[in-house]
Amino acid sequence: MLNRTMHVGIDDTDSTRSGCTTYIAALLLEKLEQLKVEFTDYPSLVRLNPNVPWKTRGNGALCLRFRFDEKLEETIKETAIGLVEEYADLDAKGTDPGIVFFSKPDIPEEIAAFAKRAITGIVTLKEATRLIGKFEAEALGFNTCRGIIGALAAVGATLQSDHTYELIAYRSQENIGSKRKVDENSIFQMDKLTEPYTFNNVDLEKKRVIITPRGPDPILLGIRGETPEIVKKAFSIVKPLEPVERWLIFRSNQGTDAHLTRVAALNEVKPYSSIIAKGVVSRNPTKIPLRHVIFSVKDPTAEVDCAAYEPTGTLRKIAEKLIAGDVVEVYGAVRRRSKNERLTVNLEKINILSLAPSVTFQNPSCISCGKRLESMGKNKGFRCKKCGARYENVEKNRVIRDRSLKPGLYITSTRSQRHLTKPFRRYGLEKNYVRRELIKDWHSNERAAP
Ligand SMILES: [Zn+2]
Repeated sequence: MLNRTMHVGIDDTDSTRSGCTTYIAALLLEKLEQLKVEFTDYPSLVRLNPNVPWKTRGNGALCLRFRFDEKLEETIKETAIGLVEEYADLDAKGTDPGIVFFSKPDIPEEIAAFAKRAITGIVTLKEATRLIGKFEAEALGFNTCRGIIGALAAVGATLQSDHTYELIAYRSQENIGSKRKVDENSIFQMDKLTEPYTFNNVDLEKKRVIITPRGPDPILLGIRGETPEIVKKAFSIVKPLEPVERWLIFRSNQGTDAHLTRVAALNEVKPYSSIIAKGVVSRNPTKIPLRHVIFSVKDPTAEVDCAAYEPTGTLRKIAEKLIAGDVVEVYGAVRRRSKNERLTVNLEKINILSLAPSVTFQNPSCISCGKRLESMGKNKGFRCKKCGARYENVEKNRVIRDRSLKPGLYITSTRSQRHLTKPFRRYGLEKNYVRRELIKDWHSNERAAP
């Protein structure tokens, strides 16, 4: 009898040289299915605050949610722990896996709030441990145990508002580490046939495929989209040129801007958070070495710097065209570059609300011959070089230059977007509901070799 509910959160099992927490979730899912559990949701793939200083990778935590027969409780826990021990890169420095088991159907509000803070800001292991004790969850950590934070956050992030799906397909063991082989034309075709309901498949600017990662992890490709049906359809269009070991569909906060918090004033901008803030450009953009662009914005409460880095492409070109007086909303991660420096927002998006007029002054033209006059020095009048006429009481003309820039929203190029960044395609497709039923086939380990 399936009389109990469990949420199993897992985080931080991977290292720069191997592993992938989503893969452990995929294996656990299959083992749980053999134990006849009933999944109450797709596995959650929860991207946490990308702006945590001690984290350099994707920062994704996982949670499986299911009903089970209480007689199997210990077997289930041992299975999860066994998989983490077997597949996590435990010897790697900075790999600090954590597992959290929570065996009640509903997520307490405090754990949900903890999850929200883990996505938008900074949470501590101490806070996680306190909540685990208070709500009688169980946790197991390896090395520094830091992974318990993400594991608990994954349990708490039930993705009740906007969310997306990702179908991830895995490679055969023997191919891991080699170049991924997928028919690129089929990916461009898939993008065309499924847009706008899938996103971040290809970088149309550089004509490059971005659903295949580059590292030594077991992922062959990941397709992100609005529904389980569309990512599955998209996958059927793509032609892998190497065997797919298994695939499954996750539900996620990717592409939802869930990491961004709107602040009411610039003095509320805090390091390590990601913010949306309104201000007036107070310092014209300057290009600095390595070719990134910096400008400042201010409001009555504070002034902050904004940086558009080279890899952001489009956004850097837009940032360069701003001038003092433009009213903008800036979106991005907040850093303090050094101790006594001002805060810097690393731009992900800019929403230009209004443009200041760009004024320049020009010498007037000669009345008799039309030639542009020459200034004879400050307050000394003008003279015409061509016909020799002199003018004493004329002033320079005020000229309003075309800005070659339009108000509106600008987003970093697809290739440099964060997992959490909401791309243009998703605007207008945001959800505020969760579908209760899972589609019939949402995972498989039976897809044959191509
Ligand atoms: Zn003249």
